[in-house]
Amino acid sequence: MRTEEPRSVRLADYRPPDWLIERVDLDVSLHPTASTVRATLKIKPNAGGTPAPLVLDGDDLKLSALALDGKPLAAGSYVAAPDRLTIAQVPNRPFTLEIETIVDPTANTQLMGLYRAGATYCTQCEAEGFRRITYFLDRPDVMAVYTTRIEADKAEAPVLLSNGNLVASGDVPDTSRHFAVWHDPFPKPSYLFALVGGNLACVEDAFTTMSGRKVKLAIYVEPGKEDRVPYAMDSLKRAMRWDETAFGREYDLDIFMIVAVSAFNMGAMENKGLNIFNDKYVLASPTTATDTDYAGIEAVIAHEYFHNWTGDRITCRDWFQLCLKEGLTVFRDQEFTADQRSRAVERISDVRSLRSHQFVEDAGPLAHPVRPEVYREINNFYTSTVYEKGSEVVRMIRTLLGPALFRQGMDLYFARHDGQAATVEQFVQCFADVSRRDFFPQFMRWYSQAGTPDVKIAPHYDARAKTFTLDITQTIPATPGQPDKEPMVIPLMFGLVGANGADLPLVANGRPLERGVIEVTRPHQRFVFADIAERPVPSVNRGFSAPVKLSLPLEPDDLRFLAAHDADSFNRWQAVQTLAMSLLKSNVAALRAGAPLREDDGLMAALGAVLGDATLEPAFIALTLAPPSEADIARELGGDVDPDAVFAARRRLRAAIGTRHGAALAETYRRMITPGPYRPDAQSAGRRTLKNICLDLLATTETSESIVRAFAQYQSADNMTDRMAALDTLAQHDRPERAAALADFYQRYAGDPLIIDKWLALQAAIPEPATLDRVRDLTRHPAFSMANPNRIRALIGSFAQANHTQFNRADGAGYAFVADVVLALDPKNPQVAARLMGAFRSWRALEAKRRAQAEAVLRRVAAAPALSRDVHDIVARTLAES
Ligand SMILES: [Zn+2]
Repeated sequence: MRTEEPRSVRLADYRPPDWLIERVDLDVSLHPTASTVRATLKIKPNAGGTPAPLVLDGDDLKLSALALDGKPLAAGSYVAAPDRLTIAQVPNRPFTLEIETIVDPTANTQLMGLYRAGATYCTQCEAEGFRRITYFLDRPDVMAVYTTRIEADKAEAPVLLSNGNLVASGDVPDTSRHFAVWHDPFPKPSYLFALVGGNLACVEDAFTTMSGRKVKLAIYVEPGKEDRVPYAMDSLKRAMRWDETAFGREYDLDIFMIVAVSAFNMGAMENKGLNIFNDKYVLASPTTATDTDYAGIEAVIAHEYFHNWTGDRITCRDWFQLCLKEGLTVFRDQEFTADQRSRAVERISDVRSLRSHQFVEDAGPLAHPVRPEVYREINNFYTSTVYEKGSEVVRMIRTLLGPALFRQGMDLYFARHDGQAATVEQFVQCFADVSRRDFFPQFMRWYSQAGTPDVKIAPHYDARAKTFTLDITQTIPATPGQPDKEPMVIPLMFGLVGANGADLPLVANGRPLERGVIEVTRPHQRFVFADIAERPVPSVNRGFSAPVKLSLPLEPDDLRFLAAHDADSFNRWQAVQTLAMSLLKSNVAALRAGAPLREDDGLMAALGAVLGDATLEPAFIALTLAPPSEADIARELGGDVDPDAVFAARRRLRAAIGTRHGAALAETYRRMITPGPYRPDAQSAGRRTLKNICLDLLATTETSESIVRAFAQYQSADNMTDRMAALDTLAQHDRPERAAALADFYQRYAGDPLIIDKWLALQAAIPEPATLDRVRDLTRHPAFSMANPNRIRALIGSFAQANHTQFNRADGAGYAFVADVVLALDPKNPQVAARLMGAFRSWRALEAKRRAQAEAVLRRVAAAPALSRDVHDIVARTLAES
């Protein structure tokens, strides 16, 4: 715990390390409460470094022995504090340091460093967890070759794993213990170290790489869960093949291992050769996992695997460069999913997520650049800005260069920086070199300037001159610490759609438009297209080529035309969203003023046309039928937000769709029922998604028939997707069927925590006043535990992040409840506590009464004694006047 004002770390202060560690020999003897860690470090002065005292990082460590070049150090020659080991005098030449520490994995509730997930020993070292295992230069630019010997009781931990290849194993003579030695030949930073010991079942497979090497694949899970592994294994093999064809990247060790653990702060971790996963992202079977779970597993397995090159082989110089590995790897996993499933559906899903999370973050007090320049707690920067906007920035590089040059730039990056700890500048320089294009300094503003650019477009067609003109203005809003912004490079994919629905040829400012991309670089810019024989409809930011907020005044008729005809499927979807958002905003205002609500026949007609278009993918139709999220509507309103009015307007729109298109929805529901056993592929999943959104929209009419239909699906479902979708629909309606289904669900799945998480999350998200009491009761339910991050995220996280009306109750009780949970959790797991606190990030945009309630609760948390650095940092930034 740290009670002092936390110090800030600044990118501008970066200095190379004075010392390097070339080799690490670890000898870890596992014990539930007193594991011994003997570290032998080969240390040398860094060329150009100044001879200085050796200061190694620690966190909550207890030193039990210390020797330099084999000789124990005298008591007065070093200072071993829990957070630092300082040796005043070390030789100015290579030397060996032996450090022995004792750690208690059972008492480690932070789940950082060496801890126990159930009975399994495991580690999490990113970002700064290795220093909780031994004293070290715990920074990513110190890369070493690791050899790890693990010893444990055979009965307690028959399986012993670490990074790299297994080089020795055996029994420890005359004891009940055994050992394993692992060697990882690839130098790596300490955050990629991993160790696992436990009683685990293993599912094995093999993969032959493009150069013909055979790699053993092993996925370790709790015994009895082996039948839930095949989809993860299949995803892994597809990811390995895809990285070879899409990026030319081949796997490099003899074995690739994944271990699923039940207590994990994040989704998964890309430790070299030994990925450790939240079991939520490994385990799936038709009766235990939904289509969303399957898609999540495929994406996360791929993401962590892709890190082997973008993160492990080329790592980050410092934590400010986090987006170098995360933004790039998210881009790679999104591309993988687009290739495996449907490009159009993946893009729309990614943008929906970007708008509901990253745009919201970017518009509030926690806004920060993709590459922050200062942090107080790095754990708080694993954000949607670093990950998702970071991916968008890489995508823009590809849009600007085209796919062939982009691939050349990536090849150069891999060739030039393999084995290094790199920076964002070095990454971008590779694309500058292959394209001879100038990315510095203007493009780099995507990394340094926070805030979502506002792009306003005034279109004008001159029938006599046969020209079409776009006047484009860009502004970037002020964000914390950044009052003034410079113009950005904004690549807008663009088309002019003619009356027959086909794109017109484009000649802009005298030149043919290359790949259909307009590059906006100035605050105000005009583009004139010549020889446009008829009035076209502009389709701008196709494929969401730039992560901007676009204002383009199009008539509703033009939007309906784009919804029906645009060659770009993203903008077909967007046209319907734009119509819906406009209706929702005006109805939110009407609800608050007590004025009559507007209906939009045009929107209904557009939805009807999409619903009836048999050429469209079912998953695309389903996305089009879903109105903008509550978070997205609130962000569009910008200020004085009343979450009840937002919810009511959205519910009214859904009910209007359910009523107006009842017959077509019922017919589609029947048509999308697929006979035969469950299959998790994208087409089958898309049909289920559409079927279940029809079920849900039909139920908004509150007819008995629609509720009975949902209950019947709940009871007869032969897979978790259909059962869960029906339960989700029933949860929205206070009918006897809801209570019956919820009780039945618990009965069926009581022994399976991952499934019960769905039951917890769904109840926490019910948008009605009784929910807070229900959630309070559930915190005392035997299925809930404050020691497990998945349970906390399912119940408390779902209430705080997904239930906008009840978290934002006008009486402030929702805020007070979440704050109490945060304060209770903070001493045990500050990282997860700080994440929950992020739910307050939009408090300034609320209407006055709720804003005052939220502020009072925030100030109460800020004033609490002994806050962790994690929560303190989030609360201080959330409250700061920007
Ligand atoms: Zn990652």
